[in-house]
Amino acid sequence: MIQKILIANRGEIAIRVMRTCREMGIKSVAVYSDADRSSMHVRYADEAYHIGPSPSNESYLVVDKIIEVAKKCGADAIHPGYGFLSENATFSDRCKKEGIEFIGPDSHAINTMGDKITARKNMIAAGVPVVPGTTEPILDEKKAIKYIQKIGLPVMIKASAGGGGKGMRLVKEEKEIINAIRGARSEALNAFGNDAVYIEKYIDSPHHIEFQILADKHGNTIHLFERECSVQRRHQKVVEETPSPLMTSKVRDEMGKHAVMAAKAVNYYGAGTIEFIMGDDLKYYFLEMNTRLQVEHPITESVVGVDLVRQQINIANGFDLSLKQENLSQKGHAIECRIYAEDPNNNFMPSPGVIEHFSEPLGLGIRHDGYVYSGYEIPIFYDPMISKLIVWGETREEAIDRMRSALFNYKITGIKTSIKFLERIMNTPDFVKGKYNTHFIQDNEDFLLPPKASKTECIEMAMVTAFINYLDKLEKISLHSTSEKGINLWKDYGRKKNVSRL
Ligand code: ADP
Ligand code: ADP
Ligand code: MG
Repeated sequence: MIQKILIANRGEIAIRVMRTCREMGIKSVAVYSDADRSSMHVRYADEAYHIGPSPSNESYLVVDKIIEVAKKCGADAIHPGYGFLSENATFSDRCKKEGIEFIGPDSHAINTMGDKITARKNMIAAGVPVVPGTTEPILDEKKAIKYIQKIGLPVMIKASAGGGGKGMRLVKEEKEIINAIRGARSEALNAFGNDAVYIEKYIDSPHHIEFQILADKHGNTIHLFERECSVQRRHQKVVEETPSPLMTSKVRDEMGKHAVMAAKAVNYYGAGTIEFIMGDDLKYYFLEMNTRLQVEHPITESVVGVDLVRQQINIANGFDLSLKQENLSQKGHAIECRIYAEDPNNNFMPSPGVIEHFSEPLGLGIRHDGYVYSGYEIPIFYDPMISKLIVWGETREEAIDRMRSALFNYKITGIKTSIKFLERIMNTPDFVKGKYNTHFIQDNEDFLLPPKASKTECIEMAMVTAFINYLDKLEKISLHSTSEKGINLWKDYGRKKNVSRL
């Protein structure tokens, strides 16, 4: 029986895992870098160990250091959270070799699903519908062009090792093919150290729908229904909800079966997610599998009433799944908003710094998974996500109302955040109607984002900004040197021209 778990992660997910450990009477161990000395996960844990400098490749990603701490403190399991080492097959193997339980699948499942080309081949063999495209990496650009001519544009050029929306190019015209291949290749090499790319047909009006699965080590596999993750920016999720407004019970059943087939095909155990892409016609295709706990897992927990981390730990203990497919159902509706330390009004620039005041919303049906507090300084070294706000409601309408109100009551000062942007999403008619696809943010830019400036406007704005700064200085020194009316005129002009966007 697992009695002590080292959490090889930081931020909200480390605390989220520790909460369940505490409920289960399991001791939790935190590891931290220089930048995380005063992080909440360090305080929350029963024990905490320093593992090195701030950059993650010198701390959270160093396998030897993590194993060393686990052995020193006598942890019998490691939970990797998401990101960092969670989808690292070598790490899973290493834990096994050291006699430490890795709370996640074995290296075979990680390797097969982590490489998208290998995953596609395996899914085709297992009878799971896969996005039409190639099952070999592109070696010859001319052949790639011929292939694309055959299947027709638009297509996506995608990195086999891709993740986090990186290494992906949409190609709409033939003349863009070569640049897209080369661009995707170099981005993939930089981000993942592997430049293999392949071709996928671009699914029109795409909806990202994923299925949560759970599997024990004895061949029992179930799914916990879908999550709708089509509100995206640069192929990354921003808002997630479940059930999907698009789904029918017939398609849900079918997709659930395919998700279970996909997991079984790689003898999967643990918690995992099968991602699908779906058209308006409800035709769906396997996209990839994430062999870990996902950022958006709480919405499934809310609607299905299952603690996924507890399930992960039970599976790691070798227990049979206690849940039966026929006993599971979706109750009510849940929505998650990811809160980022970034400025949506300034091209989503990261906004690290000190949080002056922090107060999260509370109330019926509101869950807040976070880790920051008043006075905390957000480090520049890691993902800028600071928290997740999850609401549950009896109906979709109630959930949206609750999310609007929760966002309204969420106060963070000192840094820029995406809270207001998320509030605007909750008020966008297409979202309220549940009629949206992955183009939602782009299609509703006018409503969601400040107007884009042209080149001449930029120059004009720079001049106005400089002038306003000058006037501000004057204002401080002596107000009578310029008339107040004049200053206000310029300030109004600046506001209209959206000077803050520079
Ligand atoms: P996904 O978007 O693939 O469904 P999540 O939204 O759960 O995954 O993302 C989990 C976190 O892990 C995000 O911060 C994401 O940027 C990061 N991530 C996912 N895959 C990779 C990868 N292969 N390399 C680096 N970071 C990744
Ligand atoms: P990652 O590993 O980076 O999460 P995915 O393969 O899951 O990459 O794709 C991320 C997102 O990119 C999808 O949710 C979807 O919005 C878009 N996308 C990927 N492939 C396609 C496709 N073939 N057609 C349309 N959209 C796609
Ligand atoms: Mg994905």
